[in-house]
Amino acid sequence: MAKAGKVYDVIVVGAGPAGIFCTLNLVKKGLKVLLVEKGKPLPQRVCPAPAAPCLMCATCSITSGWGGAGAFSDGKLTFSSQVGGWLNSFFTDKELEKVIEEVVETFSEFGAPPGRVFGSNLEAIEELKRKAIMADLVLVPTQIKHLGTENCSKVLESMFAYLKNQAEILFNLEVKSLIVESGEVKGVITNRGIFQSRIVVLAPGRTGADWLRREANRLSLTLTQNNVDLGVRVEVPAPILEPLTEPLYEAKLLYFSRPFEDRVRTFCMNPYGEVIREVYEDVITVNGHSFAGKKSENTNFAILISTNFTQPFKEPIAYGKYIARLANLLGEGIILQRLGDLIQGRRSTWERVGRSVVKPSLRTVTPGDLSFALPYRYLVDALEMLKALDKLAPGVYSPHTLLYGVEVKFYSSRLKLNKNLETEVKNLFAAGDGAGITRGLAQAAASGILVARSVLKEFKAV
Ligand SMILES: Cc1cc2nc3c(=O)[nH]c(=O)nc-3n(C[C@H](O)[C@H](O)[C@H](O)COP(=O)(O)OP(=O)(O)OC[C@H]3O[C@@H](n4cnc5c(N)ncnc54)[C@H](O)[C@@H]3O)c2cc1C
Repeated sequence: MAKAGKVYDVIVVGAGPAGIFCTLNLVKKGLKVLLVEKGKPLPQRVCPAPAAPCLMCATCSITSGWGGAGAFSDGKLTFSSQVGGWLNSFFTDKELEKVIEEVVETFSEFGAPPGRVFGSNLEAIEELKRKAIMADLVLVPTQIKHLGTENCSKVLESMFAYLKNQAEILFNLEVKSLIVESGEVKGVITNRGIFQSRIVVLAPGRTGADWLRREANRLSLTLTQNNVDLGVRVEVPAPILEPLTEPLYEAKLLYFSRPFEDRVRTFCMNPYGEVIREVYEDVITVNGHSFAGKKSENTNFAILISTNFTQPFKEPIAYGKYIARLANLLGEGIILQRLGDLIQGRRSTWERVGRSVVKPSLRTVTPGDLSFALPYRYLVDALEMLKALDKLAPGVYSPHTLLYGVEVKFYSSRLKLNKNLETEVKNLFAAGDGAGITRGLAQAAASGILVARSVLKEFKAV
């Protein structure tokens, strides 16, 4: 282990896609980099109770460790500057698209299979756009490459094999606070002592977003609030969504609900995939992924509703966690409900779920009643969206459709950054989902590359 007092050129906090891509680009130019990660190396990232109620480990192996939340993601790389983050508020679409291309190339360099680029059949896309409009939906066409969960972790493992000889990488090391003197960062304080550096890059992901917000408040850094996205994960038989998933893999659809005019969207569609649980500190929420080789019989996706709180309440993370905790309280974790039961105003039971044509891919759930946890507004929005989707893909609004809740995406507390992605503290940079500037694999990795470029300028290494 490195001793307190050892000085590095750069300390990178968090070994998710943002931190890894940043480190890859720094070591290429010979910088002395320490990459610190509070979780474990990839082979040791095993949930101790995959089939039992969540044990709420202090550091969750699903979201933390080498590869971050990206390790068990199924690696849908979205080739778009408009989707997966807000980096386009710092860079032009053209600049960003070039960096995203670099991300995809780097994935290939480290062993990602060539695979198909979905969303390239323009004729089919135009036809789907037309049908979507007739159903009151807007289709946002994007090109996507799907690596598959198993391939995504293989690529991350080969990045580790390369980086372990180029940088110092420390696991089970949690940064507790930043050392800032006279407006300039000097290093970090961790659970295993002090580490010093000229530059610190913060890439703590969503699992570190709350910590980052607290540090930003302590250092009087400017934070702006992002939305909180709340909703449910939907699971249907895969053939129902085949007209969308075959040409697009993931259909990104928008809907504006009638009573509230809320922006409702589909998110993270996983053809022939699995629903999984996700833990953020003390709350259990839901997510989904899909393998390239192994196929389930179902397709899952999220329906999310964005809310932006203004005043006096400005705590979107707290709100999202409150709703998720309520579902956790009622369901001892995730609640599962058949759409038919929700519409009839009754809870689901395992017996009723057993009479559904859709077999749940996640079973560590409690059949129950989502209407006790999700506010009326979100329920109405989600039901309207499902009805609209049914016109595009008949069968979605079936009583058999399964709903898991709640799904929450915490994107809050966007750090004020300049064009170099540097904070108001000199030499303190930020990248990825934790800084509130990205919300997907490709843009998180791209932000790591962009921060590395700014850091290299500081060292005059470009
Ligand atoms: C199941 C699942 C599927 C997904 N599928 C897709 C997909 O197909 N396509 C897509 O675009 N996106 C997907 N995502 C989202 C994507 O994984 C994230 O957007 C991406 O990982 C964000 O990268 P990041 O580096 O910013 O943060 P993360 O990947 O979250 O990594 C941050 C790392 O920092 C560490 N850390 C936090 N705080 C500290 C601290 N104080 N000290 C030390 N270390 C710390 C964490 O342990 C973590 O390992 C998925 C996410 C999940 C959970």
